[in-house]
Amino acid sequence: MMNYYSSNHIAPEVSLQEAVVKGLAPDKGLYMPEKIHRLSVDFFDGIGRLGLEDIAKTVAEAFFGDDIPKEKLDTIVAHTLNFEIPLKKVEEGIYVLELFHGPTFAFKDVGARFMARMLSHFVQEKRQGEVNVLVATSGDTGSAVANGFLGVKGIRIFVLYPKGKVSDIQEAQFTTLGQNISAIEIDGSFDDCQRLVKEAFMDKELNARMNLTSANSINVARFLPQSFYYFHAYAQLAKQGLAKNVVLSVPSGNLGNLTAGLFAKRMGLPLKRFIAANNRNDVFFEYLKTGNYSPRASVQTIANAMDVGAPSNFARILDLYGNSHEAIVNDIAPARYADNEIRNAIRSVYERSGYLLDPHGACGYLALQKQKKPDETGIFLATAHPAKFKETVEKCIGKPIEIPSGLKIFMQRNKQSEALSSAFKEFKTRLMSSI
Ligand SMILES: *Cc1c(COP(=O)(O)O)cnc(C)c1O
Repeated sequence: MMNYYSSNHIAPEVSLQEAVVKGLAPDKGLYMPEKIHRLSVDFFDGIGRLGLEDIAKTVAEAFFGDDIPKEKLDTIVAHTLNFEIPLKKVEEGIYVLELFHGPTFAFKDVGARFMARMLSHFVQEKRQGEVNVLVATSGDTGSAVANGFLGVKGIRIFVLYPKGKVSDIQEAQFTTLGQNISAIEIDGSFDDCQRLVKEAFMDKELNARMNLTSANSINVARFLPQSFYYFHAYAQLAKQGLAKNVVLSVPSGNLGNLTAGLFAKRMGLPLKRFIAANNRNDVFFEYLKTGNYSPRASVQTIANAMDVGAPSNFARILDLYGNSHEAIVNDIAPARYADNEIRNAIRSVYERSGYLLDPHGACGYLALQKQKKPDETGIFLATAHPAKFKETVEKCIGKPIEIPSGLKIFMQRNKQSEALSSAFKEFKTRLMSSI
């Protein structure tokens, strides 16, 4: 059995099941696996011959193999990864890992689909009672979680989103599903949505009556599976004999994606270093530069999924490196880009190579273009499909782009959502009415 400890080191260790069902530790810390196993030399020697699913099964076993039967775990992995994660060359020495070929066209599909299946396993096999997942979203998280959990027995999803503040495509992805998904439109801001979720987790009466959990990247079942594709990216370079001095550039907001990469490195994946690419929300950038961490309110940018002022997985990075700023900056370099730099990158890359970046991937690209050394091979993560940011991207390149048919489908369905004020009392009554 693998235990999970809190990054605050106050709350007691728990089992995988409890870490997944609870999400956050009672001392408000983030759960960390007590061991990070190094994978064998043989695995890395032969990685270029392995496909995504086989790689993911090996990595999943290293984390969850003690707690979930192998056959079940293999099935969870196979059902999670029902789409490709290709590595493509953008220009000499710079490759892109396209993480947006899943059902909602963003990388969060990987973690959300895995977490849904793992939670469902616990609900069905371990007599865990019905679980209610609360998600506050400014766009992408809601769609990935809602689609990942759609139709999963024993789990109900409540997606809270700010009225008028998410794009039409994003809204359609979580308000048209029905079944076990309830979309709740809050008359307020994203911060109001987050506050309502937090208040619900702290409400004694609610928690006595319902199992409540979160599906943000604080949940170990959501963020650990994101390490799968770092191995797969490396394998695709290894296949071509190019896996030397590999640098990973990660567009970063809550730092869940980056942290999963750091875990992959700790498991022995020979990545040379990382770059954390921020937009104007540069709290982590500042920390890397100065050693001072000062969270603050977020500002709005065109890479809006990275508009985070207090990155939740920062606590995991600190813990992983024993609170040593020196060790952290040894592995992670800072980068930060303003909206105009992001727009210029989208335009110039498209003009030079025909490759279309989305605003988040563009930050990852820029960091490599500016910081990669000649003897290094760079990979940046493309975290969302450019069509999810249609207007922004079209303005950059000056012409219309195609919307993939899988995205159009959402737009054709009927919206079903409930409107609530931002008062907690109203939200609580709504939750209680579902028991
Ligand atoms: C969530 C998200 C990010 C940020 O990922 P973190 O794990 O929070 O750092 C980047 N790009 C897109 C498109 C996202 O949806």
